[in-house]
Amino acid sequence: MPGPSTTAVHAGHWQDDSRAHTMPIFQSSTFTYDNVEHGQAIWRGDTPGYIYSRVGNPNADVTASAIAALETMNLDQPAFGLMTASGMAAVSLITLSLLKKDDTILSQHSVYSSTNTIFREHMPSLGVNADFFDGHDLDSLDAALARNSNIRFIFIETPANPTMMLSDIEAIAKRAHAIGALLVVDNTFATPILQQPLALGADIVMHSTTKYLTGHGTVVGGAVIARDAGLHDLFSKTLRTYGLNAGPMDAWLTYNGLKTLTLRMRQHCENACQIAHFLEDHPAVGEVYYPGLASFPQHELATRQMNAYGGMIAFELKGGYDAGVALLNNLNFYTLAVSLGTVDSLIQHPASMTHFHLPPAVRQEMGISDGLVRISVGIEDAVDLIEDLEHAFEVLEMPANLR
Ligand SMILES: *Cc1c(COP(=O)(O)O)cnc(C)c1O
Repeated sequence: MPGPSTTAVHAGHWQDDSRAHTMPIFQSSTFTYDNVEHGQAIWRGDTPGYIYSRVGNPNADVTASAIAALETMNLDQPAFGLMTASGMAAVSLITLSLLKKDDTILSQHSVYSSTNTIFREHMPSLGVNADFFDGHDLDSLDAALARNSNIRFIFIETPANPTMMLSDIEAIAKRAHAIGALLVVDNTFATPILQQPLALGADIVMHSTTKYLTGHGTVVGGAVIARDAGLHDLFSKTLRTYGLNAGPMDAWLTYNGLKTLTLRMRQHCENACQIAHFLEDHPAVGEVYYPGLASFPQHELATRQMNAYGGMIAFELKGGYDAGVALLNNLNFYTLAVSLGTVDSLIQHPASMTHFHLPPAVRQEMGISDGLVRISVGIEDAVDLIEDLEHAFEVLEMPANLR
């Protein structure tokens, strides 16, 4: 079985009559037939061919099959992928395909904010029940399983934002299957290079390909990979009916990103490990949330479930809100932006940026303190990233009027 780098470079190969070395961009809304009989054969499925780009496009198909190949590297069974217009379109595809009135979803508390909104607000408005548990606590899941019925799927995200808390995929898959439910894993933070949920028992994996899979910050996109061909057919029908498909150009950019995914993840992880240790030793820093640290409460699970510990770090500044603002304003190599998984390092201070509109008490409830900072560690040289932080920490030590 080929390794991850070989799979990333070679999976989803495209060849057509042009003999172009790299996959062309099929920027076309519709596709043509030689004659009526040819068209009919394609519509019937007797001859391979494309009809209309909402229904299928070569760029989306090749990219989806490459992601599916990466997600099944350790599984002697194929899986089936679909590219969606965004990570949220992937969540929409899963929920719209699987749920009907009176069904129940069990989701861990800490999921991506818009996923949370779909589960908490939109699904109940359609008559679907949603209940929540702590992803890191199997007792909390067992309690949620005991108080609900008609559970269609369990949804987890691991590692989860912002504290990198992990969920035990294998243990949760067993519980899902014991009651005839499916397990859905949002694998955006880990990527298939670090973690393969399908091999651990999950039924469906989704991604925001906006992040590591594309890797260069050029696309908003998503993907859904299912182990079961029947589920794939169901998802395909929803995708083309609701129009949740990815555009050809976006799929093509993701396809090119995949080729360097293994290399990039190696560097993201190595850099993050060094930075996490630097932060842990720094007097201005309180708690550091990084699964690779021995002090991380779920370090053992991270080692068991993941090949490496990822490129995302969160940490607490002892100086609180003002320290967060001063730190971010004194960095050179960290871009101030939301999102994650790009080749450049991104830094985010939720209390002054994404969550500034919330009262501090509400933020605290969400686990977002005033001094919490999140870094998406890029692939720059670790020594430069650390020196940059060191310098910014020195500024923090100055009196506020001299900063
Ligand atoms: C970004 C993100 C999403 C949403 O993806 P979009 O591409 O922004 O729609 C979902 N889950 C996780 C974990 C994410 O980081």
